Amino acid sequence: MSKENVWEMTLKRLDDTMTVLNLKPGIIKYLKEPRKIVEISVPVKMDNGDIDIFKGYRVQHNTNRGPAKGGIRYHQDVTLDEMKALAMLMTWKCSLVGIPFGGAKGGVVVNPTMLSERELENLTRRYIYELIPLIGPEKDIPAPDVGTNAKVMAWIMDTYSMAKGYVVPGAVTGKPIELGGSQGREEATSRGAVYTILAALKVLKIDSSSLTTVIQGFGNVGSNAAKILYDLGFKIIAVSDVTGAIRNDKGIDPYKLDEHIKKNKTITGFSRAEEMEPSELFKIKCDVLFPAALENQITEENAAYINAKILAEGANAPVTPQADPILKDKGIFLVPDILCNSGGVTVSYFEWVQGNLAYFWSKRKVNLQLRDIMEKAFHETYNFSVDKKLDMRKAAMALAVNKVACAMKLRGVYP
Ligand code: GLU
Repeated sequence: MSKENVWEMTLKRLDDTMTVLNLKPGIIKYLKEPRKIVEISVPVKMDNGDIDIFKGYRVQHNTNRGPAKGGIRYHQDVTLDEMKALAMLMTWKCSLVGIPFGGAKGGVVVNPTMLSERELENLTRRYIYELIPLIGPEKDIPAPDVGTNAKVMAWIMDTYSMAKGYVVPGAVTGKPIELGGSQGREEATSRGAVYTILAALKVLKIDSSSLTTVIQGFGNVGSNAAKILYDLGFKIIAVSDVTGAIRNDKGIDPYKLDEHIKKNKTITGFSRAEEMEPSELFKIKCDVLFPAALENQITEENAAYINAKILAEGANAPVTPQADPILKDKGIFLVPDILCNSGGVTVSYFEWVQGNLAYFWSKRKVNLQLRDIMEKAFHETYNFSVDKKLDMRKAAMALAVNKVACAMKLRGVYP
């Protein structure tokens, strides 16, 4: 399936959800349409003295439950359709966990590893400058996503604050702690995902001592999940990233792997594991499979080979709708993306609250509040799926979409 279809795929999932909900056609139409879409040409002064132009987007899908919220992706394959899909998923994610935001996503078509730090800063500042009328703590709050990090968020906060003439910490989340970032935000997506995995093991009555995990992607989400799971006693038996894949049935130490990747810029050559074909990764028998890379990774071509008890979607939309029934037939328990990876935006919410109030919490408080929200969302979804005989994805979608539809009906259509 080509990447362009990720929007079609997200719409299809919404259509599937509508079979469970009793919503009027006009409301369904409304929920499908992004509220606002911006396309920007971003000129950047390059180190060679010339100018290059990059394409940037910001999509605000829905703001019925609160300001739009969502990350900014820097990746060479970013498309408008992908941004629309990911913005919609943000709306459902925030709704499902009950935080008062709508959904948004932005991105620039760029391979950030090919730019110098100065070029990346120029690009970020110009892209944000163009977005200033649209974003802000009460309108739309960016955050990190694939290819962006706390340093990029610091430039965003500074650019926005310079334009306003005063410091606005609530304008962006995922900032460095020194600038009003939240304790625990960096690993929040992974920690939240682990809480859902532990909850799944409990309802499935799987003994959680010495379980095996396979992780696709060793970026922020994959590497932190690997470390948290490892610390809990899980055995990480295979890991892949864009540079390759490795395997060791005796277990991989993710801290040592992180050091190796930082030093060598590649996963290959890690002496404590064997190299393997990345396409073989999903075939490995394991208790928990954790895709934490990009969309459309588990498709109708490879779904049948998956040999995991739990598939926890660390990434957004890693499974195509065509692969869903194959996984279901195999009896694989799914923790869907809008549930599994919603810990990131949940701690972004905490960061926004803390920044707006200029009152900061301890890491312990952040992690405890995160656990409460993730466990509540997991059990609500699981109980709904059992009561209504729905799979976990449909249950999560139905709960999330219904809350947005309800807010929309209560507010009514202006004027
Ligand atoms: N990019 C992350 C996501 O896809 C985080 C978004 C946020 O914190 O606003 O959930």
